[in-house]
Order: sequence, then C-alpha cells, then structure tokens
Amino acid sequence: MYSKIMTCVLEGLNGYAIEVEADIARGLQSFNIVGLPDISIKESKERVRAAINNSGYMFPIGRITINLAPANLKKEGSQLDISIAVAILTAFGVIYNIPKKEIAFIGELSLDGRIMNVQGALPMVISLKELGFKKVIVPDENKEECSLVKGIDIIPIRSLKDLVDYLNGDIKIENYNEDIIFKDGSTENYEIDFDEIKGQEKLKRAMEIAAAGEHNIIMIGPPGAGKTMAAMRLPTILPPLNFEEAIESTKIYSVSGNLKESKLINKRPFRAPHHSSSSVSIIGGGRIPMPGEVSLAHNGALFLDELPEFNKNTIEVLRQPLEEKEITISRANATLTYPANFLFIAGMNPCPCGYYGDETKECTCSITQINKYLSKVSRPILDRIDIHIEVEPVKLNELTSRNKSESSKNIRERVIKARNIQKVRFKKEKIKTNGQMNNKLIKKYVVLDDELKNILEIAYEKYKFSARTVNKILKLTRTIADLEDKENIEAKHLLESIRYRTVDTKYWG
Ligand SMILES: [Zn+2]
Repeated sequence: MYSKIMTCVLEGLNGYAIEVEADIARGLQSFNIVGLPDISIKESKERVRAAINNSGYMFPIGRITINLAPANLKKEGSQLDISIAVAILTAFGVIYNIPKKEIAFIGELSLDGRIMNVQGALPMVISLKELGFKKVIVPDENKEECSLVKGIDIIPIRSLKDLVDYLNGDIKIENYNEDIIFKDGSTENYEIDFDEIKGQEKLKRAMEIAAAGEHNIIMIGPPGAGKTMAAMRLPTILPPLNFEEAIESTKIYSVSGNLKESKLINKRPFRAPHHSSSSVSIIGGGRIPMPGEVSLAHNGALFLDELPEFNKNTIEVLRQPLEEKEITISRANATLTYPANFLFIAGMNPCPCGYYGDETKECTCSITQINKYLSKVSRPILDRIDIHIEVEPVKLNELTSRNKSESSKNIRERVIKARNIQKVRFKKEKIKTNGQMNNKLIKKYVVLDDELKNILEIAYEKYKFSARTVNKILKLTRTIADLEDKENIEAKHLLESIRYRTVDTKYWG
C-alpha cells in the first residue's frame, strides 16, 4: 500500500516542492520518516499519529515508512504534518479519491486533529504556483495571506476530518479567492506627526532629505534633544508602499511568524530594536534561520538608538545590508539570503555620559572613555551612512514659541514629488532613488560645473574626504536639488550636502 503526496519547504523566501511517499507493509508495528528529516519533522510523527487517532480514524497497523524526497534538500517546518497524514490515510485507503499531483498540502496538525497555521505560507504558495501547482490546501488561519496569490486555488481547511471528507468528495470547500483591493496604509493610523516637534529645523530638514532620496542618517546629540522623537516620525513622511513591495514585506513577516491576523503589510515597516537585542534577532539566524530586524525593516526603516551600545559585531555586520541591500546568513551546510533594503537611522550620544560639548551640562567622561565609546562605530560604518547630523537641545524660545511646526503631510508631499522625479530619472536603470546610485550612475546623473567642482575640491582638501564620502556628497546633492525641482545643481545644494559630511571629522577625526 503506497501513496505519494506533494508539499513544500522553504529555503529563505524560496519554496521547493517535496514528495511525501508513504508505504505501509506487513510486519512489526513501526513508523519511520526517512530523507534527511529535521528534528521538527520527527516531532511531527507524534502529532500525525495522535491527530489521526483523535479524528476518528484507525492508525494503520504494520510497518509505516515515510520518505521525503529529494533527499538532498533540508526539510524543516511543521507544515509537512498534513501531507504526511494524508499520505498515510491514502496508502491505508481511508482517502480513496487519490489526490492529484498538482495539489500541494501545507499545514501543521494539533493532537486533536485541528489544522494549525504555519509560518511562511505566503512564500510557499507563491513558489508552488510558479512550480505549476493548481491547488493548495492551507490552514484556515493562513487563507488571507495565501489569497494574495492569484492563479492557484486556495482551499482553507480547519481539521484533518474536514480534509479527508473534502478529498473524498463528501463535503465541498470553495476556493478562497477574496479580491484584495490594495490600499496603502501609510497615511492612516499615525498618532504622531512632525508638527509636534518644536524647533529642530536642521534635524527635520535632514529627515526630509533622508526620506526623499533614501539616504541613511546618523544623529549625534545629548539625551533629550529629540533624536528619538524625530526618528519615530520618519515613517509619517515616507512615500506610500506599492503592491509589489507590500507582497515582498508580507513574505518576510510570514516566514518569521510576525504576520498579524495573516493580513497584508500595507505600511512601510519601522523597526526599532533595543540595544540589548541579540545579534541573531537583528541580523537573522537561528537553528532554522529566520529573518532578523534588518529584513523585517525591508522596504521601510530600521532605527538603532544609542548605536554604540549595540554589540560591536552586530554593528559591523550591518555593512553588508547597507551596501548590498540584502543579508546573508550562514548555516550548517549552506547560506541563506534575505532581502534587507531599509533606510537606516542611527542615534547616539557624543560620549558615554551624553554631554560632551554641551553648553548646559558638563561632561564627566575621560578622553579614553569617549574614544572607546566612539570607536564602537567604525569608520567603514560611518562611511556607509550618507547624512551625519549633530542635534542640539531645543532652545527655550523655540519650545515656548507659538509658531506651528510643519505637518508630516506637507513634508511628505515634497518627499513624494522628489521621489517621482527620481522614478522618471531612473526609468531605464535598475534603481529607484538617488541613495541607490552606484559610482557609474553618480557620474551620469550628478553633473557639477567648474565652480561646483572647485567648491568640492576645497572641501576635499580641508576635510580629507575619502572617495566613498565624495560619492555620498554627490548623491545627497542630487536629492537636495530634486527637492527644489532643479535639474541643474547649484552651489547651495552642494554646500548643504557637504555640511552633512563634516560632523564625523569633529568626533572621529
Ligand atoms: Zn560625557
């Protein structure tokens, strides 16, 4: 008695089809799963046995062998449960309408036979569709996210009993095909706004430039100067998420088990992990490698407040996503890559006590302490951050001023306008924003006349800029000009962007 059922496993965000073969032979009672099973699949043996018994079926007597193929693929995840149960019940004859090859099964079983939701259902269904499957059986709780995929039938199931009845034709379950009308959510539900920040014009300006050109930003200043307040408000001025980006982000949240109510992510993510977070939670990894904060922030922003307090190795690993917009996670026999294209915002104090250079309070740190603190943020990391800005405490007259600050809505309109200019500019390139330009594109799109070249030359001599820094300045200059809708770059654009690259010489020398 033999059967073959199809299911799926994930490697990163890519799904692969897996054949689950069941063979029931006469002999002493045994139940074995072969074909590189991961520990979690061995656990599934116990769930499958209990679920079959508790759904009112007899667990077959004899030698039961389950083979998972291809053997060279590492199989992880509890989503294999229902395919194993269906394979056994089909081989045993309980399911007599043998499921067709183009049907795949994903779902975890509880001991009482309910079908539980799984992580990564969306990327699995996307891959199964690409592999040519016509129908996929999914846990009822995962149906919303799965229905984002068109062109494959989604059959939501609540229990093993329902699944058997459905396959045998005793009950009907309709294809769950809700028409999703995608609506960007970034303008809704923000309880915070830039108009709550009094003064701090320099900081708000830098945030606007960061959002407009997708430039990373580091803020240096004493505690209470408003760095966190400004960072938290960045999402309120970012451009809307499009459907394609929404699917990408939803896939990552699905795999990591962070998808709430199985709904589409329709806002740009904003992640702000604490500095005590583990390296794995920020970068990603684990026994079954999961995406970390850098990937959860994909298409959105990652805010690391008090950057030098983070683990030094964690900070260094950020080089890869800052440069390549993805993160590679090493694991036992292979490596996995997750997307990690985020706008990076870092906040830090100028010294351990926070008041170095402050006019109101005296710094109590020794030079050694300050240097040690600053050295936690290395030159290569600083070089990868486009905007460096010093944040000063709000002045009393700004706090008490009755002048209303500009709203996020207004700022966002300018950001979107500048982004649209970039979209047109880069129509034939593979990028969308100035922040993503490589050296070749910088040469092509950031043109300086002789006067501007001269200004840059003088600054270069004075501040001993690296080649990487000069490129950052040029990218920023392009964005500043775009915010004014100026095709030709002017001296003021260049001078402003140079200012965003001189703070590091003050602190890091
Ligand atoms: Zn200090």
